[in-house]
Amino acid sequence: MKDYFGREAHLSEKKLWLLDMDGTIYMENRIFDGTLEFLSLIRARGGRYVFITNNSSKSVEDYLTKVRNMGIPAGEEDFFTSAQAAVQLLQSRFPGARVYCQGTASLVEELRQGGIDVRLDVEPVDVVLTGFDLELTSEKLRRTCQILTEQKNVAYYATNPDLVCPVSFGYVPDCGSMSVMIRNATGRDPVFIGKPEPTMIRIVMDRFGYTPEQTVVVGDRVYTDIAAGVNAGVTTIGVLSGEATVEDFKVGPCPSYLFSDIKEILCAIQTTAS
Ligand SMILES: [Mg+2]
Repeated sequence: MKDYFGREAHLSEKKLWLLDMDGTIYMENRIFDGTLEFLSLIRARGGRYVFITNNSSKSVEDYLTKVRNMGIPAGEEDFFTSAQAAVQLLQSRFPGARVYCQGTASLVEELRQGGIDVRLDVEPVDVVLTGFDLELTSEKLRRTCQILTEQKNVAYYATNPDLVCPVSFGYVPDCGSMSVMIRNATGRDPVFIGKPEPTMIRIVMDRFGYTPEQTVVVGDRVYTDIAAGVNAGVTTIGVLSGEATVEDFKVGPCPSYLFSDIKEILCAIQTTAS
């Protein structure tokens, strides 16, 4: 089956499917037509799917509840979030560090469960970490700005560079936009952890023992999902069910294939399966 650009999709060798969630398999609480059939086909063909998300406002536990309510079969090992990537990065690069966190209670909890020494007040720290904070207040922003201004040598990371997060009526500001506010106040830019960095993709390929040739990334965003796949050297599939338009996908980084939605990818696998 040909994709939007008229390219014949070669997907029969693919075993590890790294799927974005928001805008790719569902929109907020509405699962897309074809998602359940797509996921069950991957497993029936001996493959594995892992949901990879830049969204650090929810824990894996939160996501498990959400997708199970939609009827999606999944366990903890089927998710990898930018919060988990943050834990891994902090443990390896800053063992024992004091980490000031501007994020949701859920993110703070996940960091603490991962053994990170999280601080929430203005005090001497080694690292500042900001996430997609749906509980953001001006007091929190003030504390973050004070630490970044007064502690010149503090390392500064943010979970994900997404500017906006899709919701039912349009978009709300995501971690990338919150970072812009902080830059305007402090002059400091974070090092981002999630997509488009290839880190999350590489960790999951390693964990389950798949090669880049066996791996494919599916997502609705050019500058995070597709860019991460390109940076990791794997096949990428863009979908038009979320943020990016055909024009965005043409500007690039261009995905290996472009389909209208998950249902069309399902058809593409079925027609190349035999
Ligand atoms: Mg998305």
